[in-house]
Amino acid sequence: MLQQTTVATVKGYFARFLERWPTIEALAAASQDELMHCWQGLGYYSRARNLHKTAKIITDQYHGVVPESYQNLTKLPGLGPYTAAAIASIAFGQSIIAIDTNVSRVLCRLFAISSEGKIQKAQVQEIANSLAHTSDSGAVSQALMDIGSNLCKSKNPKCVDCFLKNDCLAFSGDLQNVLPLKQKKPIRPKRYGHSFVMRHANQVCIEKRPEKGLLASLYQFPSSEFLSEKTIAQYPIKAEWKNIGTVRHIFTHFELELTLWETFVQNTNSGLWTKLSDLGNYGLPTMFKKALAYVTPSYN
Ligand code: SF4
Repeated sequence: MLQQTTVATVKGYFARFLERWPTIEALAAASQDELMHCWQGLGYYSRARNLHKTAKIITDQYHGVVPESYQNLTKLPGLGPYTAAAIASIAFGQSIIAIDTNVSRVLCRLFAISSEGKIQKAQVQEIANSLAHTSDSGAVSQALMDIGSNLCKSKNPKCVDCFLKNDCLAFSGDLQNVLPLKQKKPIRPKRYGHSFVMRHANQVCIEKRPEKGLLASLYQFPSSEFLSEKTIAQYPIKAEWKNIGTVRHIFTHFELELTLWETFVQNTNSGLWTKLSDLGNYGLPTMFKKALAYVTPSYN
């Protein structure tokens, strides 16, 4: 949950999750729709799907017990090298250092690593490996994380208060505000799409997105594909469509501009219809929640 998300945002979700699914087995038995509903608003929905898959694998293949080895942990969906190393070292005492952004920054400064990109990553890993074999890895991982978040901050590191300053090569070379060197981020490409809000009295038509890919298995107003060029709207039914606005949303790899259209229809014979007021029961991504602000209000 904390991936790309602040503690303040996660707190409430975490408490609700634990209350609803107190064990791995309980989470494994939940339906994906239930899980998505609880995850609504937290974003990066692949985390929820991976969490669910992992709960099922641990229940079915490991009898409900989290595997201890780093190698087995990395095979679980959603667990990258950092999370696997954090669990292996902190929970199970394995000799491995968990390297997150904080830890990497501290090591770059302590050892004055002046490379960037992949070379920097490899150098940080090499130092972490040497630390892992000479100390309590779990304690070192947590200590480095804490130093990174409390003292060795990205901007304005508190070197004067830092107990490592006498051993820190960045501090002795006055490089603490220069290191670590950062690679330029590529410009996020733009994509465009259309979303069609079909209304009947206080009801609205929605559809489930495909099981794989972006926002998999979540609900949306019937929508076009998201393409790199602007296209003319291909309305899903023949009707009088009104342009009601544009929603912009930033995804990890692109920025989406979604043009919204609305029409009122005579019947609800085809498609999945729900009351506007019941939309909260469906896993609706933030982008479509933003779209709701443009939809004609329902008065009954
Ligand atoms: S002395 Fe400064 S740069 Fe070095 S580890 Fe401490 S806070 Fe970071």
